[in-house]
Amino acid sequence: MKVIVIGGGASGCFASILIASKGHDVTLIEKNEKLGKKLYITGKGRCNLTNAVTGGEFLKNVVTNQKFIMSSLVRFNSNDTMGYFKELGVPLKIERGNRVFPESDKASDITRAMERRLHTLGVNIMLNTNVESVIVSDGHASGVLLGGNKKLNADAVVVATGGKSYHLTGSTGDGYKFAEETGHRIVEPVPALCAILLNDKDLEKLSGLSLKNVKLVARVKDKIAYETEVGEMLFTGSGVSGPLVLTMSSHINRILPQNLVLSIDFKPALDNFALFQRVNRDIVSLKAKQFSSLLGLLLPQSLIDVFAHRLKINKTKKVSQLSQEERQNLVSLLKNFPLDMKSLDDIDRAVVTSGGVNVKDLKPKSMESKLVSKLYFIGEVIDVDAHTGGFNLQLAFSTASSCASDF
Ligand SMILES: Cc1cc2nc3c(=O)[nH]c(=O)nc-3n(C[C@H](O)[C@H](O)[C@H](O)COP(=O)(O)OP(=O)(O)OC[C@H]3O[C@@H](n4cnc5c(N)ncnc54)[C@H](O)[C@@H]3O)c2cc1C
Repeated sequence: MKVIVIGGGASGCFASILIASKGHDVTLIEKNEKLGKKLYITGKGRCNLTNAVTGGEFLKNVVTNQKFIMSSLVRFNSNDTMGYFKELGVPLKIERGNRVFPESDKASDITRAMERRLHTLGVNIMLNTNVESVIVSDGHASGVLLGGNKKLNADAVVVATGGKSYHLTGSTGDGYKFAEETGHRIVEPVPALCAILLNDKDLEKLSGLSLKNVKLVARVKDKIAYETEVGEMLFTGSGVSGPLVLTMSSHINRILPQNLVLSIDFKPALDNFALFQRVNRDIVSLKAKQFSSLLGLLLPQSLIDVFAHRLKINKTKKVSQLSQEERQNLVSLLKNFPLDMKSLDDIDRAVVTSGGVNVKDLKPKSMESKLVSKLYFIGEVIDVDAHTGGFNLQLAFSTASSCASDF
């Protein structure tokens, strides 16, 4: 069978390898001058290849369409990915949070290993080649159209064009156009795993401040829409970023910012009552000291002015003179420090795109379209996304494997 794979990223390279291993004639078309341009920058150049958890633990980290992706993850999980890359000659290591990296800390080792296998299998790689559209004849994918109206015929077409973020890597959302032109529904692509921009002018000067052991909470009409685990975040000047913020962004990207109330819990280990007791104990121990000293015990130095200002308490006020109400207000602000969200960061700076080809139009076992036979969609072009930690690349490999199982 003659198979065309559009896109030489993680999912396209992997699918090409697996399909060619079954003896099919595979042509891999990539618009860039080289394969895996995005792969090179993954994991800050170290490539967090997958996450060494499986089953329910893995699924908990899939944000969108968990049910759809389940069979794909059962077919090919993170153990399979690790096994496969070790077999391709890439030693791996597991770090904090079960994150898997090449032992060399070089993302290029992953791309090169796939490239070597593609060459060994005789996959025809066409670089610097942009696919303009997918050709469908009698409800069947029959080839692609390249620039200059050049047709390439095939018995099956796999769309592995990625999402819409970091467009300089080649992911410019072309797959959404191919899907729409061939009758598929698209879930509006929005940023995921990205920074959050704020309106708060008083927080701009906190740029560079990183917080540990805090929690982020998002509320819609006083109801918790999402709360993160306890972890780290940082102020960027224009807003907030860091692990907790990236995770939060993926869970609120379909809610209008004006309907959202975001807040930081600076003391997630203590409830309001326990924190009130702690504050009172601190006040006793500080005796005649000023309010700024109390804040200094509870917060990083750079937050003292912000808290004093928001609480409308002079920071030189003696702690012993703080009223019950002022103490309560301090506790409330520590537990619920509001951030005035402007928007999510631009999709181009998002680690992944949420949205894409509607999974209702795809067969979960093979990623084949339900509308056009022998047309497949794999990787980030599909409306499936996950947390950071190697989960998104695993989705690329798992969906590639499901697709290959159909050949
Ligand atoms: C900065 C950054 C760091 C990341 N780090 C990690 C990480 O450590 N771990 C992790 O799990 N995930 C990470 N991700 C996410 C992960 O990289 C993606 O989810 C994954 O690469 C998606 O693979 P893909 O094959 O679907 O798409 P892509 O890797 O985006 O590949 C799509 C390919 O298709 C090509 N293409 C597009 N349109 C056409 C066309 N019309 N004709 C020909 N070719 C075309 C593109 O040039 C591109 O090469 C990171 C993302 C970013 C941006």
